[in-house]
Amino acid sequence: VRFDDAGLHPTVLENVKRCGFKIPTPIQAYCLPAVLKNLDVIGIAQTGSGKTAAYLIPTISKLMGKAKKLCGPRPDVTNPEFDLRTHGVRAEPLILVVVPTRELATQIFDEARRLCYRSMLRPCVIYGGAPTVEQMGQLRKGCDVLIATPGRLLDFLERGSLLSLSRVKYTIVDEADEMVDSDWDREMEVIMGGADSSTDSDHVYLLFSATFNKEARLLAKKYMSTDHVRVR
Ligand code: AMP
Repeated sequence: VRFDDAGLHPTVLENVKRCGFKIPTPIQAYCLPAVLKNLDVIGIAQTGSGKTAAYLIPTISKLMGKAKKLCGPRPDVTNPEFDLRTHGVRAEPLILVVVPTRELATQIFDEARRLCYRSMLRPCVIYGGAPTVEQMGQLRKGCDVLIATPGRLLDFLERGSLLSLSRVKYTIVDEADEMVDSDWDREMEVIMGGADSSTDSDHVYLLFSATFNKEARLLAKKYMSTDHVRVR
C-alpha cells in the first residue's frame, strides 16, 4: 500500500505529506486498509513503529468526508460577550483515544493536530495531574478527536454537561498493556461502552499494545468483534 492509492481523503493525504511521511510503515500498511473497511483491529506494535499514525490516519480520513454532517456544534467565540464557562457546548467526540500517560497523550495530540490541519475536525487532549480549567475550556470550544487518560476522562464524564461519548465511532486504546490501575475494570467499562453499540452497528474498536498480555486479551475478548484483524 502507498499513501497515494490507499483511498485517503485528499486533505489527510496532504497532511500526511506535510508530516514528511513518504511510505507507510509495516503496521500502517496493514492497518490502513482494515480500518478503512471498518474492521476492528488489534495491533501488536512498539513505540517507534508508526502505530499512532496507523490508527489516526484512517480514522480521521473516514470522518473528514462526513465532517460537515458529523462535527459537533461550535460556540461563537467571536462574540465579545462570550464566556466559555456558561456558553460552551458539550463535547461529543467521534474519535476517542485512551492512553495510560500524559506524555503519550500530548504526543498523540500533536500528531492528531497535524493530521486534522485544514479540516473541520478539532482535536483536544485531557490528562490528569494538571488543572482542569484549561482542559475544560478547550472541550467547551468543541471536540471531535479526544485523546485522554482514563482517570481524567471519567472525571469529566461524571460532570455530565461537559462531555458525552454517545457519538464515538472509533474507540482506540493505545498501550493497552500499560493500562493497569486499581480502577481499571470500571474505567474500561465506561470507556469501551461509551458509544451506544445497539444503535450504532458500525462502531469500531482499535486496540494497540506492545505485548498481548492479560489486560489486552481481556479487553479484546470483552469488546471486540469476533472477526477483528490482528496485526503484529
Ligand atoms: P509512533 O510509533 O507512533 O510513536 O511513531 C514514531 C515516529 O515515527 C513519530 O515521530 C512519527 O511521526 C513517525 N512516523 C510515523 N509514520 C511514519 C511514516 N510513514 N514515515 C516516516 N515517519 C513516520
